[in-house]
Amino acid sequence: MNFKEHIRVIPDFPQPGIRFKDITTLLQNGPVYREAIDQMKALIKEKQIDVIAGPEARGFVIGAPLAYSLGIGFIPIRKSGKLPGETIEADYALEYGKDKLAMHKDAIKPGQKVLIADDLLATGGTIQTSIDLIKQLGGEVVGAAFLIELSYLDGRSKFNGIDVVSLVQY
Ligand code: 5GP
Repeated sequence: MNFKEHIRVIPDFPQPGIRFKDITTLLQNGPVYREAIDQMKALIKEKQIDVIAGPEARGFVIGAPLAYSLGIGFIPIRKSGKLPGETIEADYALEYGKDKLAMHKDAIKPGQKVLIADDLLATGGTIQTSIDLIKQLGGEVVGAAFLIELSYLDGRSKFNGIDVVSLVQY
């Protein structure tokens, strides 16, 4: 399947010079969405994973169906101020702008093997911050899986020792 045909590229969003990869066009096509999740599942099948964690919001639409199909838990990583329980937080920088990510303090049990899932790997800032949070909670990050990787930004070089897989590369 040529997934790129289903990803719409929008120039100058959300800022001039950014070529935004819009996955809503892929998500709205049921068979293509399902095939993308199934192929991502195949990319991680050798891994021992206890839970999947995904950053808001597009990490949810990739991470949650993966977790469901594996029969394991899903842990949301959210923007600051959204989670109702006690949280830990960390700052992060994006390809454009910056923000704070948060996780519930009791989201991960010490020693749990965590796979991080997101729609897109750009600079790696989001995932770097997610890794920091998961490690603070005592989790072991066993890999990161993305629908899209912007290879030219070389985000994967930030994760020494953590296995990174992606379905579509630009
Ligand atoms: P990074 O932290 O790796 O620089 O940026 C990745 C994060 O920003 C992901 O959570 C992703 O959702 C969002 N992002 C950055 N650029 C794009 C893009 O072109 N398309 C989409 N769908 N998300 C993007």
